[in-house]
Amino acid sequence: MSRDSQRSAAWLCPTILGSTQVVGLIGWPIEHSVSPPMHNAAFRHLGLDWCYVPLPVRPEGLAEAISGLRALGLCGINATVPHKLALLPLMDELTPAARAIGAANTVIVGPDGLLGHNTDAEGFLRALREAGFGPEGCRALVLGAGGAARAVVYALATVGARVAIVNRTQARAERLARDLRQAGSGATLLAGPLDAATLAREGERAQLIVNTTPVGMWPQVERSPWPDNLPFPSQALCYDLIYNPRETRLMRQAQQAGARAVDGLGMLVHQGAEAFELWTGQPAPVQIMWQACTAVLGRERE
Ligand code: NAP
Repeated sequence: MSRDSQRSAAWLCPTILGSTQVVGLIGWPIEHSVSPPMHNAAFRHLGLDWCYVPLPVRPEGLAEAISGLRALGLCGINATVPHKLALLPLMDELTPAARAIGAANTVIVGPDGLLGHNTDAEGFLRALREAGFGPEGCRALVLGAGGAARAVVYALATVGARVAIVNRTQARAERLARDLRQAGSGATLLAGPLDAATLAREGERAQLIVNTTPVGMWPQVERSPWPDNLPFPSQALCYDLIYNPRETRLMRQAQQAGARAVDGLGMLVHQGAEAFELWTGQPAPVQIMWQACTAVLGRERE
């Protein structure tokens, strides 16, 4: 976040009282995260006596930090890079989503202990629907097989999609398909290499193409996971999980081919919205969360 946007984001900060319920974000580094202003804007909008704080936690400090959550009276946390996988064994209980994905990005501190959940999957589905795309039973091509891909593929599998996963390291794509099958997914999951021939073959029939790799993310904005000499399939919706920059090179390739392209800010907002609802028990003010994110990122919502 720039100094100017930090100053202009002051209005997003809630008043902290002795009674304030605290949630937060653990990660390393986290100074660029938009989650604190997004959640604090939502709390403030609803008049909730809640506050969301950044909790910079180094990898070696994770277990200690988690064991202190209850003692400190926190209601929950979000987790980001590099903690999403390492959180799992530290939880008392996992939701089916967190277990199948193999990563948690949300912790609920409850009377029976720490519940680990993953809101990236539901956030992705809500973002697709908000963009006017119904994912049920669709044919999808997913680029990448890392942590975000695991949530995206799990989400698509839960709505009966047929998913082709392509990854630079093919074995990782194969492991993702195998893990989800073992977790009981009945969806059709294929795995292959991230090469032009596979992209051409699977892209031709896809209704949805999702980029879960960081290729094209700021500052390397001129990069794209899609080869220059391969036309992007015009019938597919291109969903890029990247939201900085607002328009990636991949999104421009899709648009130039006549396809619609959507960036990853909707997924970020909606994964936050689900966490908000789990912690507070109230519907999240999604529009307010969108506004807070776009204000911090310095852009208007399209
Ligand atoms: P990750 O676990 O490190 O996985 C990265 C994936 O990208 C791996 O499959 C990796 O392939 C692939 N990859 C990396 N560099 C590549 C390159 N130069 N060429 C081809 N493939 C490459 O990361 P992650 O947590 O999944 O995050 C991935 C992206 O999703 C990031 O940009 C992150 O900001 C974004 N994200 C967005 C949201 C949202 O709400 N919008 C949520 C989560 C993540 P290998 O297996 O071969 O290394």
